[in-house]
Amino acid sequence: MASVEELWNKLKSAANCKSLLKKHLTEERYNGLKDKKTKFGGTLKECIQSGCLNPDSGVGIYACDPEGYTVFSDVLDEVIKDYHKVDKLDHPEPDMGDFDNLGFGDLDPSGDYIVSTRVRVGRSHDSYGFPPVLSKDQCLKMEEDTKAAFEKFSGELAGQYYPLDGMTKEVQTQLTADHFLFKDDDRFLRDAQGYKNWPAGRGIFFNNDKTFLVWVNEEDHLRLISMQKGGDLAAVYKRLCTAIKTMEGSGLSFAKRQGLGYLTFCPSNLGTALRASVHMKIPNLAAQPDFKEFCEGLNIQPRGIHGEHTESVGGVYDLSNKRRLGLTEFEAVQEMRRGVEACLAREKELAAAKK
Ligand code: ADP
Ligand code: MG
Repeated sequence: MASVEELWNKLKSAANCKSLLKKHLTEERYNGLKDKKTKFGGTLKECIQSGCLNPDSGVGIYACDPEGYTVFSDVLDEVIKDYHKVDKLDHPEPDMGDFDNLGFGDLDPSGDYIVSTRVRVGRSHDSYGFPPVLSKDQCLKMEEDTKAAFEKFSGELAGQYYPLDGMTKEVQTQLTADHFLFKDDDRFLRDAQGYKNWPAGRGIFFNNDKTFLVWVNEEDHLRLISMQKGGDLAAVYKRLCTAIKTMEGSGLSFAKRQGLGYLTFCPSNLGTALRASVHMKIPNLAAQPDFKEFCEGLNIQPRGIHGEHTESVGGVYDLSNKRRLGLTEFEAVQEMRRGVEACLAREKELAAAKK
């Protein structure tokens, strides 16, 4: 494995690299951080390896563990402000809004455009490091702690945990094709050591209808996910909020920092750690030369339908809120809702103009 110096030299000489890591890891910051270490033993090398090996990264830096956000704050704070478009790191306290007055419901009652809706949050146990500094035994122990907390889910949220280790290929393939399960094929995450000791300690919990799921040790220690077919954002969001409250009362303690909110492996996720998405049919909008800029102006991030770093299929895109920090959960979902509504309106206009 390359040393931190080798990684740094590779980053410095990378032409056309537009990552936030390259932009914010100046020579001065590099020199000030290269010998620092967290109490879990995490160093700058673990944080920057993926971004140095993959010059086409968007962000390019991960935190080795929760404390990494303090030890390596000279570079991470700048990346965080840039990604989430904030001047200060003063993330508000969680606020999920008033469920009786959300002000939105189904974003596509016609059912013609939105295929499915999903809202997820990431959470990290504050007593464990992130993948680069986590041993196999610690990872298995963490999986046990998490499984114990699943006992608290009742009613609609009750379900079962399925470890990845031992799951048949057929079941895995089907669950992945249906957008429920994760894979180990993202080179950015692999180079960040996200797949260390795979599949040990990884698994998925879901309820009967697969409308509530939890990913265990994919990119983050926990990803709580609510999803269903169609565009009923309110139903999906409320289900997720109920699950979050249940997990918070389960005895688990999640990593959180004043001003940064919930801490996650990738700095693009911290704050609310919330990504609300629709899979939406927008063939006409997506064909516009200004599609990317249009989304950017709405703080909406388009992805392919098999997740980040995948391509669209048949004009269907994953559209979600790009920012997760500096706004409350409710505001993040509202930002996504407004963006999706604007995309839907433009798609309809473009389709009508063609007739
Ligand atoms: P995240 O990092 O937010 O969990 P990814 O981009 O890694 O999201 O995608 C994870 C999985 O979730 C993929 O299989 C993707 O197809 C699925 N997914 C994301 N949004 C939706 C949605 N609105 N409907 C159905 N599946 C979705
Ligand atoms: Mg992901």
